[in-house]
Amino acid sequence: MNEENNKTNPSGSGSNSNSEKNSNTDTPKEGISRRKALKYIGYGTGGLLLAGGGGFYGYRKSLEISGAEADRVRKVKFVIAGGSIGGLTVAARLLRAVPGADVTIIEPKSEHHYQPGYTLVGAGVYNPDDVKYEQESLFHSGMKWVKDYVEAFEPDQNRVITRSGDIISYDYLVVGLGVETNHDSVENIREALETDYVSNIYNLEKAAKYRRMADTFEGGTAIFNYPTGYVKCGGAPQKITWLSEDLWRGKGNGLRERADINFFTPRHTVFPAVPKVDDIIVPLVEARGIKNHYHHTLKAIDTSTRTAIFEQQSENGDTREVRQRYDFFHAMPNFRTPKPLREGPLTREGIGGQLSVDRHTLQHTQFPNIFGVGDNAATGAAKTAATIRKQAPVVAGNMIDAILERDLSNSYDGASGCPLLTRYGRCIMTEFDFEGNLQQEWLFQSTRETRFWWDFKVHALKRLYRHVMINGYV
Ligand SMILES: Cc1cc2nc3c(=O)[nH]c(=O)nc-3n(C[C@H](O)[C@H](O)[C@H](O)COP(=O)(O)OP(=O)(O)OC[C@H]3O[C@@H](n4cnc5c(N)ncnc54)[C@H](O)[C@@H]3O)c2cc1C
Repeated sequence: MNEENNKTNPSGSGSNSNSEKNSNTDTPKEGISRRKALKYIGYGTGGLLLAGGGGFYGYRKSLEISGAEADRVRKVKFVIAGGSIGGLTVAARLLRAVPGADVTIIEPKSEHHYQPGYTLVGAGVYNPDDVKYEQESLFHSGMKWVKDYVEAFEPDQNRVITRSGDIISYDYLVVGLGVETNHDSVENIREALETDYVSNIYNLEKAAKYRRMADTFEGGTAIFNYPTGYVKCGGAPQKITWLSEDLWRGKGNGLRERADINFFTPRHTVFPAVPKVDDIIVPLVEARGIKNHYHHTLKAIDTSTRTAIFEQQSENGDTREVRQRYDFFHAMPNFRTPKPLREGPLTREGIGGQLSVDRHTLQHTQFPNIFGVGDNAATGAAKTAATIRKQAPVVAGNMIDAILERDLSNSYDGASGCPLLTRYGRCIMTEFDFEGNLQQEWLFQSTRETRFWWDFKVHALKRLYRHVMINGYV
């Protein structure tokens, strides 16, 4: 695995030439001065050390549990449905608090992907192999692995049924099945994704194909769409739009002038999750000639004429059909949760098949011995690994509280983050709460495009994911 990627714009020209043309004064200019670079590094490193020190103190404190209490927890059988970043982080966190705890993980896949790296695969910064891990290498000693799918949840009997028919009982269950793309949500998208003009970055194979498509694009109409409903990493469809624009601009052969770049979204703006950042992003990308089309929902794709069919909604609620021809299409269907969750007893009406949890305690609203983590949980928070970093200790801590018959003392505050890769070598790093208020703005400098946070995204976040989160140091 190559952890040492050091690419910016793979077209060779880098992105910063674009910054010169940008009128936004917050945008870093070509050839960032040494003083400024040192300042960023100083702020960043100092802030990270402070935050890291505070975090480590909190982490140590949260592990405090007496020997007698730990013995009580060891008598409990934990089952974790889904062994990705959510399930694994909770499992590791539990085992850090209570070594020897009885933890079983049900996960069918042999290969784990660092999905936040898919954007960088699509952008040609990572190779596909850079995001692959053997699933087995992620389990700690003490975790039991059932390599199978959950077929059904039977919460009244405290058990799950696997696809091969095994019955697995539990005292406490954590559900971390994630969300999946729903290709039934857009007519003909499956077939379209098989053609040479359409791809997306939401699975590894397609992200690699996307990269090839972007690299060989010779100009014409490029379109990108944003789905409806909840979205895994709600910033990724935008990020790949901006990076592609920068890639084509950076080629320097007139390609950018030959490319008509369009972003279609059903929402009223580009990044509504965080209005303060959106205020900066919209003029930034519009100045680069990316056309944003609001209130547009992708309904169908006609591959024979290379046409995307959108429904446009007007302010008074009227709708009309908009047909857009394309030469290049980053096409996104909607998302849904896996079948045993969306069609089973752990969801409820009105939450799109997600796990019904209290958004602060992350405990199931009906079954107190079930907790949820990650993308599949109906918390209203962004569906990102950054969210899981904050949720996993809450889930582990509250399960221990419940076992010890204490009030649940851990509360998830909605914190999430998203590194907005605005162009090669530049990132706006954000962390925000349920309401979209920026958090730790002083540390992240969240209203600026910085080189520091680009480097952090490319070089450090994967290590944090693999070595900090999956080892339970959260
Ligand atoms: C293109 C892209 C870019 C992203 N960028 C970022 C980013 O910059 N920053 C960030 O923080 N996050 C980012 N994310 C989001 C992040 O990857 C997800 O939020 C995270 O992976 C969710 O983890 P999870 O454990 O909840 O679900 P997942 O990682 O989706 O895992 C779910 C697991 O459940 C298993 N499973 C499914 N069905 C069953 C079943 N029936 N039985 C048993 N197991 C089952 C699956 O095999 C899988 O291992 C990005 C994601 C994508 C796709």
